Amino acid sequence: MEKKIYKKIQKYNTIVIARHIGPDPDAVASQIALRDSIRKTFPNKNVYAVGASVSRFKPIGQLDRNNIDVSDALLIVLDVPNIARIDGVNFTDFKEVIKIDHHPFVDKMGALEIIREDASSTCEIIADLILNTKLIMDEEVASSLFIGIASDSDRFLLPTTTGKTLSIASKLLNDYHLDLKKIYNILYERPFDEFKFQAYITLNMTITENGFGYLKIDNEKVKEYGVDSSTASILVNNFNFIKGLIAWAFVSYDEKQELYKVNIRSRGPIINDIASKYNGGGHKYASGARIKNASDVDVLFSELDDACQKYNEELLGNMDS
Ligand code: AMP
Repeated sequence: MEKKIYKKIQKYNTIVIARHIGPDPDAVASQIALRDSIRKTFPNKNVYAVGASVSRFKPIGQLDRNNIDVSDALLIVLDVPNIARIDGVNFTDFKEVIKIDHHPFVDKMGALEIIREDASSTCEIIADLILNTKLIMDEEVASSLFIGIASDSDRFLLPTTTGKTLSIASKLLNDYHLDLKKIYNILYERPFDEFKFQAYITLNMTITENGFGYLKIDNEKVKEYGVDSSTASILVNNFNFIKGLIAWAFVSYDEKQELYKVNIRSRGPIINDIASKYNGGGHKYASGARIKNASDVDVLFSELDDACQKYNEELLGNMDS
């Protein structure tokens, strides 16, 4: 499959690389790394990484303009399983589409797809693609890839981390002399206000007797702490490994889109099948949902709480038997 993808890249003069709306570092880093590698390998091709830019991810790399003639172009979609969540391009305008992703399969996008649910990150798959073809890997590309791998595996903490993840990360680190201090500054340096807001969440979240934690974040509080409404999506990852907390969700209201954005994480029950009932989806243990009515948020929370209860009961049942 990697060789077939390389041949398609060789064939097209214009290549656009897209990813999901509301990007995370893996989504942005994978498109920047693949774009830079293709540009270095084929300097005469027009290669663009597109989608709305997020100011906090600018140090990962600059995205490109979006008024491109794509009638004869190849689209490579990264880190997104469904067509509706592709950012910045009209999927049907392109001559051909390739998808590379590590989410559970949702929509078919083209004849060539690499879907590896066992991969820690899309960057891990792109690293494999580059290392196994004639695409160029250098310090800049390797550094972007390491950012995506480290971030999506939560610094190799999540169970999505495999021996393969570590061996690819090790190869990038050793062979391309990465500057870890610089990389971790890009990923983890944050404003003190955000740290204070994390303390607010910690002090105010409710944890049910089943181990489900939740907080509805008020936009007044967001203003008071000097953060923005998307901050909860970043902080949600910091609540792992708390005793008695097996799944947790934060909800914030997006005034522009007039909907509730829910970030859900679990180290117990599988949550993406629940999220998918609420205009959401994602990974088994890291999902999101977009909800119009406040009452549906409560229904989602109660379903997540039930899932925690069931998980605990099954765990107890297994211990008894
Ligand atoms: P987040 O909580 O936004 O970091 O998202 C966690 C995971 O769920 C990521 O893989 C997202 O791509 C995915 N995700 C978030 N929101 C949605 C949604 N509304 N529909 C489908 N997948 C989503």
